[in-house]
Amino acid sequence: MIPRYVFDSDHEMFRDTVRKFLEAEAVPHHAQWEKDGQVSREIWLKAGEQGFLCPTVPEEYGGVGVDFRYNAIVSEEFSRLGLTGLGWGLHSDISVPYIIRYGTEEQKQKYLPGCVSGEIITAIAMTEPGAGSDLQGIKTTAVRDGDDYIINGSKTFISNGQMCDLVIVVVKTDPSAGSNGISLFLVEAGTPGFSKGSNLEKIGLKAQDTSELFFQDVRVPKENLLGGEGRGFVCLMQDLPQERLSVSLIGLAMAESILEQTVAYVKERKAFGKAIATFQNTQFKLAELDTEVTAARVFLDRCLELHIEEKLDTATASKAKLLCTELQCKVNDECLQLHGGYGYMAEYPVARAFVDARVQRIYAGTNEIMKLIIGRELLS
Ligand SMILES: Cc1cc2nc3c(=O)[nH]c(=O)nc-3n(C[C@H](O)[C@H](O)[C@H](O)COP(=O)(O)OP(=O)(O)OC[C@H]3O[C@@H](n4cnc5c(N)ncnc54)[C@H](O)[C@@H]3O)c2cc1C
Repeated sequence: MIPRYVFDSDHEMFRDTVRKFLEAEAVPHHAQWEKDGQVSREIWLKAGEQGFLCPTVPEEYGGVGVDFRYNAIVSEEFSRLGLTGLGWGLHSDISVPYIIRYGTEEQKQKYLPGCVSGEIITAIAMTEPGAGSDLQGIKTTAVRDGDDYIINGSKTFISNGQMCDLVIVVVKTDPSAGSNGISLFLVEAGTPGFSKGSNLEKIGLKAQDTSELFFQDVRVPKENLLGGEGRGFVCLMQDLPQERLSVSLIGLAMAESILEQTVAYVKERKAFGKAIATFQNTQFKLAELDTEVTAARVFLDRCLELHIEEKLDTATASKAKLLCTELQCKVNDECLQLHGGYGYMAEYPVARAFVDARVQRIYAGTNEIMKLIIGRELLS
């Protein structure tokens, strides 16, 4: 194992606390949450109490004001344990940072303390039934009416969609202005005209709530505009590296964990009178996977360092997302095979990881879009 230099002893102490907390408070309940289609509110509040949500929120807004490495640790730990229902990556790494970065003083004071405590669960709603990869194709609009805006449209596949108390909604304020006509709005659950559809049934991430959201003449004050009118697309583009880094961290930690569990399994499982670990095919498969995972870890840690230095560019973050999520799916597939029939049984973590991981290549920008970005940069 190549030592990781991106974390120091304070980080490792924090990691230890997170791991113990998750083992005690989340692992025993995850199977039930998978049946419920969502995690409990209680786990959010308990995590908030411990300071595990949104660690980068500055102290004046109720946070601890540390750097993104603490987010990374939380993501790595819940991922290693296969706790895929916890929508904390989306909340702490993706949606809340928009409020930290682009929020007005009033918005920060109003929302950030609740985001940190777990009383406010956030979501970000970009995708629509007719537009995913092509964000500029969205149809949801916000039209100015006096001191308010009126939002109409619908969103789909929204993570934390059932549980969310606050949604960042991507809309068009000027449909004729292309990317300059896109804006972000903060919409609170309970606002008249805003409704949540049913919890969508997915093949994996069973404990993670994912929903359609509907906006019918939703009146929000102009103070709920986030980042300025027409600035939505720029804000979204600027925050892409962190979003992609977050998904990569989750993917690689899950891959490492499944690989580790498979190494233990092949030493125990016997065929033809000997452990399947003794077969050359098993050793070669594991050696190949371990080599790729090790290389990806070194690259991803470097990306994390660059991000802390605010030097991680979108193309490099896209490479991390492409590499780590493709590798995650490969590891799951090969490791499932090494488990034989047991690997197909839902009670085995490798079986659940196999389906849970599949979406990693789709959301946060599909891997085809990652290639588009990398290719564009390469050829520019
Ligand atoms: C479980 C889950 C959770 C999600 N959470 C959220 C969320 O919280 N918020 C949110 O806003 N969205 C969320 N999404 C939506 C997700 O981001 C989109 O599904 C994704 O961006 C792809 O969009 P699409 O589904 O419309 O596919 P499409 O854009 O229709 O793409 C279909 C296929 O065409 C390919 N394609 C598209 N354009 C090109 C191109 N130019 N070149 C080559 N290939 C191309 C794609 O790569 C893909 O393979 C979630 C999705 C899922 C499944």
